Amino acid sequence: MTELVVEDGVFVTMAADAGPAGAMLIRDGRIAAIGQAEAVRAAAPGAAVVRLGGATVVPGLIDAHCHVADVGYLAAAADCSQPSAPEIATIQARLREAADRTPEGSWVTGSGYAEYELREGRHPTRAELDQAVPGRPAVLYHTSLHACVLNTAALREAGFADRQPDPAGGAFGRDSQGRLDGVVYEAPMFALFERNLRRDIARMGAGARAGLVRTAGQRLAALGLTSACDADLRRDTFGAFAEADAAGLLSQRIYGLVVHDQVDWLLAAGLRGRHSDRLATEAVKIWADGGMSSRTAAIHGTYPVPPHGSGILYFERDELTEMVRDFDARGFQVCIHAQGDRAIETVLDAYAATLAGGAGNPRRHRIEHGGAMYPPLADRAAALGMVVVSQPGFLSALGDGFAAAFGDRRDQLYSFASWQRAGITVAGSSDAPVITPDPLIGIRDAILRRTSDGRLLGPAERLPARDALALYTTRAAYACHRESETGSLEPGKLADFTVLDKNPLEAEPGQIPGIRVLATVLGGTPVYQSSDIFRGR
Ligand SMILES: [Zn+2]
Repeated sequence: MTELVVEDGVFVTMAADAGPAGAMLIRDGRIAAIGQAEAVRAAAPGAAVVRLGGATVVPGLIDAHCHVADVGYLAAAADCSQPSAPEIATIQARLREAADRTPEGSWVTGSGYAEYELREGRHPTRAELDQAVPGRPAVLYHTSLHACVLNTAALREAGFADRQPDPAGGAFGRDSQGRLDGVVYEAPMFALFERNLRRDIARMGAGARAGLVRTAGQRLAALGLTSACDADLRRDTFGAFAEADAAGLLSQRIYGLVVHDQVDWLLAAGLRGRHSDRLATEAVKIWADGGMSSRTAAIHGTYPVPPHGSGILYFERDELTEMVRDFDARGFQVCIHAQGDRAIETVLDAYAATLAGGAGNPRRHRIEHGGAMYPPLADRAAALGMVVVSQPGFLSALGDGFAAAFGDRRDQLYSFASWQRAGITVAGSSDAPVITPDPLIGIRDAILRRTSDGRLLGPAERLPARDALALYTTRAAYACHRESETGSLEPGKLADFTVLDKNPLEAEPGQIPGIRVLATVLGGTPVYQSSDIFRGR
């Protein structure tokens, strides 16, 4: 039995009815007691003691929707994000550098750009990618991961030709003569990303695969995250997680959202459920539409900005309803990406048909993102008992692009306060690598709702600091059926916690992203520390 008392800290327990706490006792990876320091110490006179010197302890932070494997995979890609790469010439230089270190047979890869943040205000073209990387395939992923640009060699290898019509569920960018300009939207882009990821992972040895998972895990741990949903789990990435788990290399508890077309494989392989206390596959992921920043979310009406469509809806109502019913009947929690109002409407129809028995939403079926869930839709979602997993951090990172694309409905996007008032359980997440996985940025944005240009998006939707922290603790745990184990600091729960050098509930909101993570502790064991607090533990 190992016992550790953590004291001399500010404990933000997030428990519903907890009194003030000055110390916490950890026994065998779980919280055995939390409360007055003398009482906690008296409960374990022989325990080792760690003094925090006034630092703040919050429940281990939870990212309820990100792409953990992709974070590790794209960590090796050229950083083409803004403001780091302000213009296309910088992107070209970064791709040139990446070409030197990319093994033969793999595509030269860059990621993270948003065309409206570039000095040129447009997507780079195939010709510009050819100048940087001639003769071998190169891909530049859009920050949304709903679009990308290919050079000529990549277009050829992907089998895309100038005269080809737009594929189902996707679109190609074209020049004034109708030739492909290299930009690929939605379904064909997903297929490419998945194929490249799968091919690169297959080419890696076990060591490199574990390295990819470990890189992602360390990055998230350094940001205070102790749990994460991987919103895109497939056979190959599941294999990488399972290997890392067996080797004790997971720095978070991973809750896998298994992509819908992988469910038959998962069940046939007997791999549904909890594999360990750090790896679980109990949920299914479906995409109903495209992305907000790629302007492919399925909306009523048309976008006033390029590509001027109404977005892309992947499934008609009946087909989606059949899928949801089927997964629900097989015991899965269903998590559906839905951004535009037209997609959200379709998803709510599918959930309403599935949950028609009136017993509420016991599997906690979720809407992922919910960007344009306007008031009447939010009321319907609340009546169905929906859980919505959304991304406050989009507001600073992508909000100016949303404002351009949504015009006078901009203040009704991501309306967290209204959703909560309507009765929806809202959980926080990052969707990384779409944006940074830093939960402190998400917490700040939920409170301030300022874009990078300083515009206020939906001022009435700002949350108080405590609600903003709840998004990444209690509510995120609920969204993953883990509220009896994580999300708050209470006796019996897992000893997952994050030590911060300031209390985010008392900091000036604009300063929250500058709060330092001193340690991230998973089941009583530090998985990250930037200080000496837990040295030797
Ligand atoms: Zn996502």
